[in-house]
Amino acid sequence: MNENCLFCKIISGAIPSSKVYEDECVYAFRDINPQAPVHVLVVPKAHISSAADVNAENSVYVAKCFEAIAKIAAAEGLGNGYRVVNNCGEDGGQTVMHLHFHLIGGVKLSEKII
Ligand code: 5GP
Ligand code: ZN
Repeated sequence: MNENCLFCKIISGAIPSSKVYEDECVYAFRDINPQAPVHVLVVPKAHISSAADVNAENSVYVAKCFEAIAKIAAAEGLGNGYRVVNNCGEDGGQTVMHLHFHLIGGVKLSEKII
């Protein structure tokens, strides 16, 4: 828990969120500014600042996030596919410095850059 971190405050309940999933390692909630019919943020309960800070000690949280993503996608009816996005650092466009994966879907996504 990082006292100055928005997503740590959301995980602790200090800031309200629209929760869609929670387990021991992962918290997931709806993005406040959705870019698709389904737009869920999947975050580790441990404060990891960005993908650049993933290492051998904390990488289990990344695996747990992706296990959760598969469950949430199924629960949200995304059987036809979806996209998982991680923005890392300033050049990657990351605005909240707590590792998170955007799960977006519910529409045929067209704006592919890769
Ligand atoms: P990033 O730009 O760091 O990849 O993604 C941060 C995301 O967090 C953005 O999509 C933004 O809409 C979302 N966000 C920012 N503040 C809040 C908040 O207070 N509540 C929720 N649910 N989402 C937020
Ligand atoms: Zn945090």
